[in-house]
Amino acid sequence: MTTTRTADAGGRQLAMVLDLNKCLGCHTCTIACKKLWNRDAGAAYAYWNNVETQPGQGYPRRWQETGGRTATGAVKRGEIPDLDADYGRAWTFNHEQVRAQVGAGAHKPWLRPDAPPTWGPNWDEDHGAGEHPGTNHYFYLPRLCNHCTHPACLDACPRRAITKRGEDGIVLVDQDRCHGYRFCVEACPYKKVFFDPERGVANKCIFCLPRIEEGVAPACARQCPGRLRFVGYLDDPEGPIWKLVEKWKVALPLHPEYGLGPNVFYVPPVGPVAFDRAGRLVDDAPRIPGALLESLFGSRVHEALRIVRDERARRRRGEASELMDLLIAYDWNASFRLPAGTREVL
Ligand code: SF4
Ligand code: SF4
Repeated sequence: MTTTRTADAGGRQLAMVLDLNKCLGCHTCTIACKKLWNRDAGAAYAYWNNVETQPGQGYPRRWQETGGRTATGAVKRGEIPDLDADYGRAWTFNHEQVRAQVGAGAHKPWLRPDAPPTWGPNWDEDHGAGEHPGTNHYFYLPRLCNHCTHPACLDACPRRAITKRGEDGIVLVDQDRCHGYRFCVEACPYKKVFFDPERGVANKCIFCLPRIEEGVAPACARQCPGRLRFVGYLDDPEGPIWKLVEKWKVALPLHPEYGLGPNVFYVPPVGPVAFDRAGRLVDDAPRIPGALLESLFGSRVHEALRIVRDERARRRRGEASELMDLLIAYDWNASFRLPAGTREVL
């Protein structure tokens, strides 16, 4: 393994593309990740992968408003989200009470949180925006560490505890070096580094590194029933990432204006069209506002949406479309192209 503190080592970059047109909001990815990597007591509140509803406040609350870089490229001091108010402490439930009452008659207690919850990772799930009927809208945005080309977390760490691997660009925390200052938590504008208060160290997504080294896709991608996650190298012209990002230009980074060079990309959601008060569909009025999508994915989002719509239309006419074949993921195995050019065998 080669590691570097600088983001410009000239090595290759593993990346992920998520097609938001296919996300079900089922949270299988979140659970797959959580169960595999993130079960320590101090990480109970932490989700390396989460799925939030947009528009919405997200997880942690208001993450889009803090951190990042200044116009000159310097790391900006952001905020450390509050465990209760922003992340939401993991709820505990009356499991014992329910278990003790099993078979005890008609008045069995419901399973419920021990204390009334006030906030959590999915607090505003499916709330969305707009007016019903006609313009109400929302979509799901799964989020994980972007393994950025210019990681703010890495630059912010005075202990040099965060590294970016030269051979695949995966960003890792060395917990033996970490002193728990939390400058990385402040700096990451995506709020994808977490602090473990029990152990006093930072932790974050490792892109399922041990799986990657065995030629197996990350758990979030492998378990996704929507088949919407693609994994591979950015510079592999035979792989799905290069085709979606570079060739078809339909996969865009989240908040490119932060300037970190995210390596997780999204095919933006086309969404349904609006309908008027008489219930008639309005063909040229997309339900999800273009301004919302532009605020998340930048000005290129409109061209990406046009390409997806055009290719859908082409396919409906019975014509061939490489893009649609790729996005539909008929061949799920082709969604992953992993190290050494291997193709995962399922
Ligand atoms: S998303 Fe945040 S934690 Fe991940 S590499 Fe970028 S700056 Fe670091
Ligand atoms: S597992 Fe796939 S479909 Fe389900 S929420 Fe995650 S990304 Fe969306």
